[in-house]
Amino acid sequence: MTVERRHDQPLEMDKFREECGVFGIFGTADAAAHTVLGLHALQHRGQEAAGIVSFDGEHFNAHRSLGLVADTLTSEKVVNSLKGYSAIGHVRYSTTGETLLRNVQPLYADLSSGGFAIAHNGNLTNALTLRKKLVSDGSIFQSTSDTEVIQHLIATNAHGNLIERIIGSLKQIQGAYSLVALSKDSLIGVRDPLGVRPLVLGRLEDGAMILASETCALDILGAVYVREIEPGEIVVISDSGVESMKPFPPVKARPCIFEFVYFSRPDSIAEGTSVYEVRKRIGAELAREAHVDADLVIPVPDSGTPAAIGYASEAGIPFELGIIRNHYVGRTFIEPTDQIRHLGVRLKHNPNRHQIAGKRIILVDDSIVRGTTSIKIVEMMRSAGAREVHMRIASPPTTHSCYYGVDTPERKELLAASHDVEAMARIVGVDSLAFVSMNGLYRAVSGLPRADNAPSYCDACFSGDYPIPLTDREGGDDSLQLSLLAELN
Ligand code: SF4
Repeated sequence: MTVERRHDQPLEMDKFREECGVFGIFGTADAAAHTVLGLHALQHRGQEAAGIVSFDGEHFNAHRSLGLVADTLTSEKVVNSLKGYSAIGHVRYSTTGETLLRNVQPLYADLSSGGFAIAHNGNLTNALTLRKKLVSDGSIFQSTSDTEVIQHLIATNAHGNLIERIIGSLKQIQGAYSLVALSKDSLIGVRDPLGVRPLVLGRLEDGAMILASETCALDILGAVYVREIEPGEIVVISDSGVESMKPFPPVKARPCIFEFVYFSRPDSIAEGTSVYEVRKRIGAELAREAHVDADLVIPVPDSGTPAAIGYASEAGIPFELGIIRNHYVGRTFIEPTDQIRHLGVRLKHNPNRHQIAGKRIILVDDSIVRGTTSIKIVEMMRSAGAREVHMRIASPPTTHSCYYGVDTPERKELLAASHDVEAMARIVGVDSLAFVSMNGLYRAVSGLPRADNAPSYCDACFSGDYPIPLTDREGGDDSLQLSLLAELN
């Protein structure tokens, strides 16, 4: 495998990219304005598109756009058009279905019970199988998003009230999902039976209830964190309060361990623990497992920073910022000309030469995906005069793709899928390379090593142990062509 040396990508291009973020609020004036702020706090979970649907007591109001929340949802005109006391919102990357406006969520449908909007974080692993069946039964799909499969299942399920129809539909789907949905009288939140993707409950001072992918979306509103939605739990929030249901057969939960490594914002709380503290603990585990004599510990910004702090503190080696990030490089600046593109990574990151020259340094990053980023950083450090460059990674080798709602390269593109650590070190160009062990990661997250016969987290991208069947793939259905409509973004 040849690792392509791309000089035109910012560092974060060679990462697993978090899927989507969802937000919902019930029972407050200016629900949409609150949703805009919540989505802004969740922007790191998806930057390609954003949307909001509100309900004003009579009508559902929708706005969906390609682009960032700050660029597309904050104008007075947009916020004023989204009237109502309840709203749901979504930020996304395209994990299933291309980035087309018709795929931007929340999706809306008129059901026999009334209007119904839904937004989804995750990925269904039997969406194609279900979609084919629905199409052969006469359903007409508007988008290529697997969220629409859920909507069609609910629409075509004739049994019971809306909540019973939702439950009946969810029992047919497989995959990782956190859903928020809006009906004329309720906000509904669902977390899949294994709880792979996160969802939390919060409350505003005025009593309005909030659902969000992460607690940082509560903080921005001054809302109180109430609790996590439990794996397999459905909550129905209405004027009568919060009703909780557990309609699925109980199974051992397997939340995504990568949320702790990279996806979640470090100021979020997950499973009652500060994500920032967990990342520092991973760094400390790494220092205990893979010590090397060096002069400085340097984080790869920004995602490697907490683990680097933990590593430096445990190893007793000074922590310094050896790579300085220019925060004013927006997406628009990356593209304009070939000449600027070829300046490459230094548009956004520059070595802090004065700190690095003549030193033995330990670079700490959260993960290695294709390896392209690591190669560039190591070249940058050596050209700035580093005497030795060691790299320590705050996750085990990423050997498998994620099919649970994360934008990830095919397995053959993952450096660790076809190279051992020694070979990776040669390709990346470091004097030594080490990854935290699986048990070290588990200890940092939960205090316990991995129970191999019943692991507490999804760690499939490190282990290949996929906790949810990959039905579409195992069925040999690798067709990702969900629509024949050619459409420009
Ligand atoms: S495969 Fe990896 S990224 Fe995907 S849900 Fe599991 S732990 Fe998270």
